[in-house]
Amino acid sequence: MSHSSPAEQSTSARTHYRICPLCEACCGLEIQTRGAGKTGRVVAIRGAANDVLSGGYLCPKAVALKDLHEDPDRVRTPLVRREGRFVPVSWDEAFAEVERRLVPLIEERGRDAVAVAVGNPSAHKMGALLYFSRLAKALGTKNVYSASTLDQMPKQLANGWMFGHWLSMPIPDIPRTQWLLVIGANPMVSNGSLWTVPDFRGKAKGLRGRGGKLIVIDPRRTETAAVADEHHFIRPGADVFLLAGMVHTLFAEALVRPGRIEPHLAGIEAVREATLPFVPERVAARCGIEAGTIRRLARELAAAPKAAVYGRLGTCTQRFGTLASWLIEVLNALSGHLDEPGGAMFAKAAAFADNTQGPPGKGRGITTGRHASRVSGAPEVWGELPMTCLAEEIETPGGGQVRALITVASNPVLSAPGGPRLAAALAGLDFMVSVDIYVNETTRHADVILPGQSPLEHSHYDVAFPQFSWRNQARFSEAVFEPAAGHLPEWQVLLKLAAIARGLGARADANVLDDEALAADLRKHAGERAPSMMEALSPLRGPERLLELALRSGPYGDGFGARPGGLTLAQVRAASGAGGGVDLGELQPRIPEMLRTPSGKVELAPPACLRDLAHALAALDEPAPELVVIGRRDVRSNNSWMHNLPTLAKGPERCTLLVHPSDAAARGLVDGSPAQLAGAGRTVQVIVQVDPGSMPGVVCLPHGWGHGEPGTAMGVAAERPGANLNALLEPSARDPLSGNSVLSGGPVSLKATVPG
Ligand code: SF4
Repeated sequence: MSHSSPAEQSTSARTHYRICPLCEACCGLEIQTRGAGKTGRVVAIRGAANDVLSGGYLCPKAVALKDLHEDPDRVRTPLVRREGRFVPVSWDEAFAEVERRLVPLIEERGRDAVAVAVGNPSAHKMGALLYFSRLAKALGTKNVYSASTLDQMPKQLANGWMFGHWLSMPIPDIPRTQWLLVIGANPMVSNGSLWTVPDFRGKAKGLRGRGGKLIVIDPRRTETAAVADEHHFIRPGADVFLLAGMVHTLFAEALVRPGRIEPHLAGIEAVREATLPFVPERVAARCGIEAGTIRRLARELAAAPKAAVYGRLGTCTQRFGTLASWLIEVLNALSGHLDEPGGAMFAKAAAFADNTQGPPGKGRGITTGRHASRVSGAPEVWGELPMTCLAEEIETPGGGQVRALITVASNPVLSAPGGPRLAAALAGLDFMVSVDIYVNETTRHADVILPGQSPLEHSHYDVAFPQFSWRNQARFSEAVFEPAAGHLPEWQVLLKLAAIARGLGARADANVLDDEALAADLRKHAGERAPSMMEALSPLRGPERLLELALRSGPYGDGFGARPGGLTLAQVRAASGAGGGVDLGELQPRIPEMLRTPSGKVELAPPACLRDLAHALAALDEPAPELVVIGRRDVRSNNSWMHNLPTLAKGPERCTLLVHPSDAAARGLVDGSPAQLAGAGRTVQVIVQVDPGSMPGVVCLPHGWGHGEPGTAMGVAAERPGANLNALLEPSARDPLSGNSVLSGGPVSLKATVPG
């Protein structure tokens, strides 16, 4: 805590520690600043050497936090559209406008007429993540959408069925594993996804240095494949067949040995029967991987004393994404590596983890399909409908038609298939509100924009990521800079919107609403202890108060006095303020304690998965398109808004189409050729990059590009707009179990651009 005068603060250098909010790796950063308030500047950003999770690691994106904080394009004042133009207004005027237009619309059209969509950056803002659900609940709409149905719902759904909760996802225990199979993931670039593993490069080096083996399956020779012991191309969309072939081999060769957890497994025989038809020789051609290799991988997995299979985005973004995610954990379980040191293990988060709450070992499990989307009939999954249903829900007349939208840090026009169609639909809405930091391809359609804060202007604790971090830990970030006077934090903005939706009016006091909601929650869950707990929490407000509650009632917490010496926010704050955080140790076996299934078992054979596996078998011999497209992740990008940060935007062109030399030659294309890539009835202009590391018949374009649309205000991004991959993908192509978009393997055609 600084005690310097304002004059001194304006010039003095200070050091802050902040969890990086730019990707799931959540590295600890050391940020040097000079000055305060409006004149405060970031002077340097480096890895925090003593951080208990990342140990000083950072990637090139981290330094762009300075760009983000100082970006002149960042929206800093509420904007209201008047006569076609955004006009700066006060917060009161902005909320009054929301009330004026939203309330009559709800009264006239009903609650389902208002949709709400939340994007990935909110996962890195404690306030936005914890309070979004209050807004969704207040709206009372079925039309809730998020980025989860673009790339991760299959993994959440499969693991939810197996272990009883949506975020109970095992991750490789990488410091101890000896054999790691990575499918459809590129952690050398991402540092993990649904697996928080900063400095994957160093950890992979450690794995190989101790004689371990890293194997990558991917349609592209990725950066991870380049450092692996083995890489095998796989045809996009075929992961389910490879994995089922491996499971088949375990049974056929009597290699099923679940070990310690066997008494806790249900459905082994059902899995055996269901995978009987997936003989490696039968699936090899579809995968593009020889049968002998499929068998060998299964044998190596079974024989390795410590091994794990990990799959991510590529395994999720396909027709059988839930099946692929399910079979990965089936392999871990049957081979004896689930919940074992060096295998696939569960983190034990200090706060907010449902698999640490309530009676251990049993629970209600998960439920899906409580309602369905109006037009396509897509089932609700974890309270959401597929993001790719949003456009048709706006376009299609009838009862329940979406006529208003609230977005929170979401840019689906670029990040979801069918973006141009969605943009047209947004233009026809009766009303739209965006809580966002940019006027981007989506928010340009809003009537009111309520600016989010810079990540450096609010405190933070990772709500979700410790639930799949490579090491158990608790870290807290103080705000680096004070926000501008009157700039509301996202949690208050969301509460105000919730109040309007509930008919309490734009002038409702967010703090009072927050007190009331917490008191009600405590009465429900803590009974007669509620008043004393409320009192104990009273010095804090908003998300920090919820964090204090979660930490103290969490698995390491002090139980509000029941476990003296246990964790409190004050402890985490103190340890984090010194640049380290609280280390809670390596991953520990957690089965059966972490299970929350009704049976108290690991459900190895969810009925819906068995049914869909029959569909996969029926699809095994479908002819392959001549050319398909996949996406890729760049180390200097993650979300579309990062393209507006000069530090990340400079350098070579990043939005290039990778094309195998034979595919390029067949079309008369060379490095740098302009070309037309067509799919789903649309065409985009691309620049070709000939790449021997691509699989023949597979081209690769990063997603989140396609900037420069009229009405956007992202100057740097507009200079190098790139091509919109998602415009070429069919929005109706989904994994029917999870509603997740099929982003990998969409059929495309490619030809040279004829000079005009
Ligand atoms: S990998 Fe880079 S962007 Fe991701 S959290 Fe670490 S420093 Fe930030």
